Amino acid sequence: MNLKFLGGAREVGRSGVVLDTGTERVLMDYGIKIVSQAEGPLREPKIPLKVNLNLDAMLLSHAHLDHSGFIPNLYHRGYSGPTYTTATTLDLARILLKDSIKLADLRNQEKHFFPKDLKIMEKNEYRITYGQQFYVGNISVGVYDAGHIPGSVTFHLNTGKKSVVYSGDIKTKDTELMRGLEPIREKTDVLIMESTYGEREHPNRDDQERSLVEKIREALENGGIAMVPSFAVGRAQEILLILEKYGLDKYPIYLDGMSVEATKIILRYPELIKQPKKLEKIFSSIVKVHNNKQRDRLIKEPCIIVTTSGMLNGGPIAHYLEKLYNREDCSLILTGFQVPGSAGRTLMDTGIYVNDNDKFKVRCKLSFIDLSAHSGRSELFDYVKMVDPEKIFVMHGDSCEEFADELKGKGYDAYAPKIGEVCEI
Ligand SMILES: [Zn+2]
Ligand SMILES: [Zn+2]
Repeated sequence: MNLKFLGGAREVGRSGVVLDTGTERVLMDYGIKIVSQAEGPLREPKIPLKVNLNLDAMLLSHAHLDHSGFIPNLYHRGYSGPTYTTATTLDLARILLKDSIKLADLRNQEKHFFPKDLKIMEKNEYRITYGQQFYVGNISVGVYDAGHIPGSVTFHLNTGKKSVVYSGDIKTKDTELMRGLEPIREKTDVLIMESTYGEREHPNRDDQERSLVEKIREALENGGIAMVPSFAVGRAQEILLILEKYGLDKYPIYLDGMSVEATKIILRYPELIKQPKKLEKIFSSIVKVHNNKQRDRLIKEPCIIVTTSGMLNGGPIAHYLEKLYNREDCSLILTGFQVPGSAGRTLMDTGIYVNDNDKFKVRCKLSFIDLSAHSGRSELFDYVKMVDPEKIFVMHGDSCEEFADELKGKGYDAYAPKIGEVCEI
């Protein structure tokens, strides 16, 4: 029995792992890695390694494109097997995947799948729920809440000989939007885990929330605009809840980009989030933005704009920055992990913003607030202790090898596989 790592190995992005038992083959996640336009305007997303299509199942942990973004390519190439995930993930992934086709069109990039492939995928979707157990051949699969975003799953696979946990992205502690993950109750031999924050502790969450509120207030009091770029799925809703919590909903708030549709979807599954009533309340009170005319009008007055994309790789934030980059009274507050190579990371490192059309120095006040939906370093160690596996494969991080070494130092058998590597288990 072995695991093959198709992507997300010693990097964040394009996750994909195949479990091959000799009789069953299961693919867990199949995503893309969005890279910046810094090295040319038509930079293609990085794709995972090609997989043999004799798969018995595709298991999707959650909607984010670094996990879901390449699944339609399987159907494009002729795969006709099932994709298992939660209903929420399917709804959210659908809008992200449609948008990725649109974006490839817009940028004249190579297309790896088309709307018709999304339709084939839809026909082969199987909706699963937390606490459920289902079978892929002889493998029994358990479904746990991963606490990362609405609908996110950690899979527990029992092959009869070995039990394997694929963490997906995990958050052990509560946030405003989510309850922390559900502990794994079954025995686990092999753990495949994310390690996004393996090298870093998150700062105190309350301090970060207050700092966000302060920075927004400061911009508004100076007559400026507070731009809060955020991922459409998860982060945008978290920010809305924080704005509500601290009474900032008395100011004009605009929600832009795919965050609008994503929030609508999330509100259809109130049982998966911690404060559905509060999210409903703020979502109904704010203004949703749909076009450039509206954008150009709203920036005439001080306001708060929550918009995509979270790493500044396109989306309406590009339009706002083109208009506002020279204004020192405005604030740009990044709220999520900025992958090396993303436009957001480039801006943080150089002060220069590069997008499809332009390249310029940003004079707005730039800051970073950590509102991560990933477990911090000590949470990851707590997680390992809770799962208590015999063997650990560390992936989905910038410092996978270092984190694996640290786990070894604590007595665990841990390893950070390379992309393309096949590991016997
Ligand atoms: Zn994620
Ligand atoms: Zn991820």
